[in-house]
Amino acid sequence: MTILPIRLFPDPILRQKTKEIEEINKEIIEFGYNMLETMQSAKGVGLAAPQVGKLIKLITIQVPEKNPMIMINPKIENSSGTRNVEEGCLSVPGFTGLVERSMTIDASYLDLNKSKIKLSATDLLSQAIEHEIDHLNGIVYLDHLKSHENLYKTGITPDEIHWHDVGYKIFINKDKSSSKDLEVCEVIEKKIKLSKIKSDSSIDEASVDI
Ligand SMILES: [Zn+2]
Repeated sequence: MTILPIRLFPDPILRQKTKEIEEINKEIIEFGYNMLETMQSAKGVGLAAPQVGKLIKLITIQVPEKNPMIMINPKIENSSGTRNVEEGCLSVPGFTGLVERSMTIDASYLDLNKSKIKLSATDLLSQAIEHEIDHLNGIVYLDHLKSHENLYKTGITPDEIHWHDVGYKIFINKDKSSSKDLEVCEVIEKKIKLSKIKSDSSIDEASVDI
């Protein structure tokens, strides 16, 4: 198996839509296992094919104490409720944001044996499936970020500022990025400034990248 390079935001491939998989052949199965290995080695909870450069509807998920899943042509059939959750992404390393996700979802997908599977999910599993299916539609969690003001509600006041260099730069190819990407980058830059406020410079250790 092979560990694949993970594309980083704002790589334009993360903004493209993906195609349904029509035939679950050897190549798809091998790719699914490579994605699983890539996700595990990056310590992620989920990974979507565009994040490793393929525009097909395939995601991998592994939440604690559950078996890893390779999901082909996954779909959200139903969702209910909303909740605010901290979220990160393997394509946006070093950042987390507060986003709104469903309380529960019903999803369907094909497994590698071409069986149609239906599942109901809550908590991290539901969040991860929503996050990864977003990737299949060119959506990244940054699009769901709650307003900038929400970032101030972390109990950090300007009096407590400790400036630390988080050592992270975002390179934007202005010709290729959409204006939406540029807006999002601006939000990230604001987040970097906020994250500098934290005195321990660990901005995301408590949360997971999915
Ligand atoms: Zn992601």
